[in-house]
Amino acid sequence: MFTSGHCSLEARVVDITTLALDAIVNAANSSLLGGGGVDGAIHRAAGRALLRECETLGGCATGDAKITAGYQLPAKHVIHAVGPVWQGGGRGEAELLASCYRRSLELAGQARCESIAFPAISCGIYRFPAEEAVGIAVGTVVDTLPRIPAIEQVVFACFDDAMFAHYQAALGRLG
Ligand code: ADP
Repeated sequence: MFTSGHCSLEARVVDITTLALDAIVNAANSSLLGGGGVDGAIHRAAGRALLRECETLGGCATGDAKITAGYQLPAKHVIHAVGPVWQGGGRGEAELLASCYRRSLELAGQARCESIAFPAISCGIYRFPAEEAVGIAVGTVVDTLPRIPAIEQVVFACFDDAMFAHYQAALGRLG
């Protein structure tokens, strides 16, 4: 467990759909109408009502996020963030990924969430290199938290031990 100001930060190997937090973040695509990976898992666990709400949102730009209810999930809210597809690093991927984390925390703060979990956005089907993505995730969250005082707990949900090791290393560097 690591801390940043009054907020705890931790990495866990866990299925994000099982977490009973105020918000979980979805690694969505710009349609917001569901997909594979964590997106598919979240929609399966939340039920059809989540898709119905997503259909009203008009999609979402890369680097931005939109918030919905959590429906049958244990989490109260889902924040659907659209990460960049990795195209070699020269297409603004790093800044777009950082923007996903910033926008998600802003929406969580507006919804008065105290706890939030992030998956490794863009690190699956979108092929962002994991170590660089994790550095961006941890760095951006730590830089943004002082502006969002409502947030007291951040969980980085990892699907495997290799991803967990990247987060432990990045969190350990916070000092
Ligand atoms: P993207 O399209 O943004 O790359 P993916 O869903 O393909 O999104 O992958 C993002 C990350 O989420 C990957 O590291 C993947 O292993 C992980 N992941 C997939 N399912 C889950 C889940 N249920 N809980 C947490 N992480 C998950």
